[in-house]
Amino acid sequence: MRFWAEEQSHDRDRTLPTDVIVLGAGMVGLGVALHLQKRGRDVVLIDRRGAGEETSYGNSGLIQREGVIPYTFPREFGAILSYAINNRSDVVYHLSALPRLAPWLFRYWQNATPDRIERSAQALAPLMAQCVQEHDALIDEAGDAAHTLVQHKGWIRCLRTEESLGQAIANARRLDTYGVDHAVLTGRNYASSSRMCRRRSSARSTFAARRPPPIPAC
Ligand SMILES: Cc1cc2nc3c(=O)[nH]c(=O)nc-3n(C[C@H](O)[C@H](O)[C@H](O)COP(=O)(O)OP(=O)(O)OC[C@H]3O[C@@H](n4cnc5c(N)ncnc54)[C@H](O)[C@@H]3O)c2cc1C
Repeated sequence: MRFWAEEQSHDRDRTLPTDVIVLGAGMVGLGVALHLQKRGRDVVLIDRRGAGEETSYGNSGLIQREGVIPYTFPREFGAILSYAINNRSDVVYHLSALPRLAPWLFRYWQNATPDRIERSAQALAPLMAQCVQEHDALIDEAGDAAHTLVQHKGWIRCLRTEESLGQAIANARRLDTYGVDHAVLTGRNYASSSRMCRRRSSARSTFAARRPPPIPAC
């Protein structure tokens, strides 16, 4: 595989033959390029910057097996209001960008009905079931240094109120059908396993992934 950062590409012979050009060297482009290479393709991966320097760099660093149920546009008035007044840590927007974003946001909202979310989750399920073992394979190939960057502990979500805990438990139960394990921790059992969030949160839920069944051959 050859990697061209856009500023370097001017210096190179652009007429080199290749089987495939992959545009964008984030997690998705890199994954695609590596798998094409494994299948014997000659691949050129191109990015305007270095590899993995945009969203795939600045994220929370979780291999998000539970993301099989996508993040959707909120439907509760209170949540919409807090996003609208820019009072959130998960989304920040510039008012001047709103006209450009509005059509996209409208479609995002349209797709947040329960049946569309369910359809989306079912379509994602075979892919998401593989995400932990696919990352493990890449980590193995990358060697010891990559192993030191990864912990196989699942992750813990801390909730501040009984109401938000109830909602989180209901959401977590929906993940049962997709093979994502979760446990609800309260009080002492949590305090004995971790010091994180002890002061600020009232209850927690944790997520971990079961090993998935193999994807059927297409
Ligand atoms: C705040 C935040 C937290 C997140 N936390 C998590 C998490 O914990 N776990 C998780 O699984 N997901 C998380 N995500 C989502 C995840 O980071 C993204 O889904 C993922 O990184 C998308 O990868 P990508 O390759 O599609 O995009 P990117 O990583 O953005 O890669 C796209 C690449 O394309 C290049 N590019 C774009 N346009 C051009 C062009 N015209 N010419 C050349 N190159 C171009 C860019 O430079 C970039 O390198 C998070 C996202 C955000 C925003």
